[in-house]
Amino acid sequence: MGVAIGLGCALLFASGPGMADARNPKIGFSIDDLRLERWTRDRDYFIGAAEKLGAKVYVQSADASEQRQIAQIENLISRGVDVLVIVPYNATVLNNAIREAKKAKIKVLSYDRLILNADVDAYISFDNKAVGELQAQSIVGLKPKGNYYLLGGAPTDNNAKILREGQMKVLQPLIDKGDIKVVGRQWVKDWSASEAMSIVENALTANGNMIDAVVASNDATAGGAIQALAAQKLAGKVPVSGQDADLAAVRRVIAGTQAMTVYKPLKTIATSAALLAVQLVRNEKPAYNSQINNGYKQVSTVLLKPILLTRSNVDMLVKDGFYTQGQLAGK
Ligand code: BGC
Repeated sequence: MGVAIGLGCALLFASGPGMADARNPKIGFSIDDLRLERWTRDRDYFIGAAEKLGAKVYVQSADASEQRQIAQIENLISRGVDVLVIVPYNATVLNNAIREAKKAKIKVLSYDRLILNADVDAYISFDNKAVGELQAQSIVGLKPKGNYYLLGGAPTDNNAKILREGQMKVLQPLIDKGDIKVVGRQWVKDWSASEAMSIVENALTANGNMIDAVVASNDATAGGAIQALAAQKLAGKVPVSGQDADLAAVRRVIAGTQAMTVYKPLKTIATSAALLAVQLVRNEKPAYNSQINNGYKQVSTVLLKPILLTRSNVDMLVKDGFYTQGQLAGK
């Protein structure tokens, strides 16, 4: 039943079954995996921003299980949220859950990773193709020629593929020229550091340690690769890329064992996403800057700009309040 709050606001702020509460929207935030550092930060910034806008956030972590994520989304739907914000574990298995959400007039925002083949209302992320380009450009700048190993992200994550597209945009001309030889490539299940480590251990063995560079798609997998390199006394000699500006990775960049990372200001994506989610509920017009096809439709998208981070500009993280000087120094 609709509840009118104040004269003239009845329409805007009415609420009831099937009718969104525009003043105090309920947001269901379904996150793939809160066990990973970056996502806890996304969550905290998101909740802070959403609460300032009058919203209430219900958070769930699927801990890298597609069944759990589907069950959690169904649970959020039955709790009567007005909008679902989803970081999908598996980009391709959520279409039924989203169909249910749409039936219940719940808006859906795909967060950081694009949900494929489903009727999502909007998508927000960093420009992942640009992230891939930054990774490959940095490594090519350090090793213009040689044997390259390509360590991709999770095969269930659409970002992993887009990152690879960006990397190949830079690498392919050099491969064609014969300067770069790709001696191996593998996707890393769940972006797991330990899996990345064993993949690179095996790659080193298979190539008699003759690997000159590793294009790793994020900091977790870079960490695994660097552990494998360190065991062969190659850490710091073989450049490795990353992304996320995870604390351990930034320390490796400072120490010289990781060539670069990509800083994606999480406060910006989380704050913009909170606003976008609330705007969807309020039927306001968000400021999109892109359209991306997810196999079902052209999805209205906000793409944010990633920032290259090397030893020479790590200070930016302190200025931005992302880390303290003490954290970077390992205190
Ligand atoms: C994100 C990365 C993250 C990775 C693993 C990707 O979809 O864009 O920032 O490192 O997932 O969680």
